[in-house]
Amino acid sequence: MYYQSTRGQAEHVQSTEAIIQGIAPDGGLYVPVSEIAPLAVAELPTDSYQNLAKAILKIFLTDFNDTEIEEAVTAAYNSRCFDHVQITPLKFLSKELAVMELWHGPTYAFKDIALQILPHLLTKAMEKRGEKSEVVILTATSGDTGKSALEGFRDVEGIRIIVFFPHNGVSEIQKLQMVTQEGGNVSVAAVEGNFDDTQNGVKEIFSNRSLSQKLLHAGYQLSSANSINWGRLLPQIVYYFKAYQDLIDKKVIRRKQKINFVVPTGNFGNILAGYYAFKLGLPVNRLICASNSNNVLTDFINNGLYNSSRELKQTLSPSMDILISSNLERLLFELTDRNSQKTKVWMEELKSRGKYTVGKGTLKRLQELFWADSADDRETLETIASVFRNYQYLVDTHTAVGLKVWEKYRSRSEDTSPTVILSTASPYKFAGSVLQAINGGPLEKDLTELEMLNQLARQTGTAVPINLADLEGKEIRHRARIPRDKMDSHLLGVLSV
Ligand SMILES: *Cc1c(COP(=O)(O)O)cnc(C)c1O
Repeated sequence: MYYQSTRGQAEHVQSTEAIIQGIAPDGGLYVPVSEIAPLAVAELPTDSYQNLAKAILKIFLTDFNDTEIEEAVTAAYNSRCFDHVQITPLKFLSKELAVMELWHGPTYAFKDIALQILPHLLTKAMEKRGEKSEVVILTATSGDTGKSALEGFRDVEGIRIIVFFPHNGVSEIQKLQMVTQEGGNVSVAAVEGNFDDTQNGVKEIFSNRSLSQKLLHAGYQLSSANSINWGRLLPQIVYYFKAYQDLIDKKVIRRKQKINFVVPTGNFGNILAGYYAFKLGLPVNRLICASNSNNVLTDFINNGLYNSSRELKQTLSPSMDILISSNLERLLFELTDRNSQKTKVWMEELKSRGKYTVGKGTLKRLQELFWADSADDRETLETIASVFRNYQYLVDTHTAVGLKVWEKYRSRSEDTSPTVILSTASPYKFAGSVLQAINGGPLEKDLTELEMLNQLARQTGTAVPINLADLEGKEIRHRARIPRDKMDSHLLGVLSV
């Protein structure tokens, strides 16, 4: 299977090359050249997450052999990396409402599912292509990708990783997780700006031809661990099928019965993986896109105008504080019957004017599958409290946005399809907000986030995850703080170019 750019002006490449490059040279995103065709869903392996993952990866990574895929899957999805044998277990709140916990990896956010395997795919891709340069993973993070990528890539031979996070845009625990990162090939810097500034800075570095030439000369090839990388998106398709299989197994649904997924959304990576699962034949009724107060996608899905010209708000679900959802580009490409010209024009309008509008036909197709709404901070806290009260089940702020939006959907539609809410982070990752929600009011003053972890554990009778309990005594190793326009020179400094 070959891959092309959504903007149509880059050469077709194989999956190894798409994974190494991360983003296409014309600024577009790599997608399979031929339209994704339905597969025999009933024939997919049901015995383990690992075998399901192998079957799905194989479809898209045709230039990898079976052993290579098998090795990558085994190295990523095992009991050393994930603290649950099922990898992505379902918890039922009622017969027809399940929460899929995607946060049993080392950093307690769903990004581990992709970022535990991406380094293995990438190093194999480099070997196969005889890549001589060192690969430099550049990552902009709204909080969770950074730590997850650092854990995935630390001390991987032939790879350097540089993470940029918005100085005031991540939680205290997220920041601590990153600035204490160990490993000989890692570098972490705070950027004076918000996530969009940080992500744009990284994108500019990628599209700066003279900079990448200079780096290549010095023996460095840039790549990305953000969900713009196909190798990041692909592993996320797997758990949509896993959820469906589990619902059949629990006799909640019959074969081929359609289900809904609710996805707390930021960069549109997770929900896009759901769309690809749908294209592969998974019986999906609706993909419900849940946003926080940065509800650009809610507006877009409801009226066809994508308008990022608004102020980015800092919310209690910081990993979704995003106004430019990069992966939407891939969906637009698909919805326009793979029209790279249209896609390119919209993306250029987004860049120059901060907005674009899609036509009626495209909007109609979008709304046939997607539904969208948002939840603000007050609703988020109320939902954490009520879910805990009603089900003795603790959710983080991002998952709470999903649950609230699901409630809104249920009250406004007749649809009673069984529904899976994707839970994207452990509640402990956002202990301060979760504790505030459970207590129904402000916290004792001067509690550090680490003290909050313990208090949350005491009050809810749950346990602090091991890698967070450890944070307290860790040495701060990364103190760099750089202006928004100095990201490129920082990069050159780190690599001594
Ligand atoms: C990254 C993240 C999201 C958003 O996922 P996208 O793929 O960017 O839409 C939601 N919740 C959490 C906890 C995250 O880390």
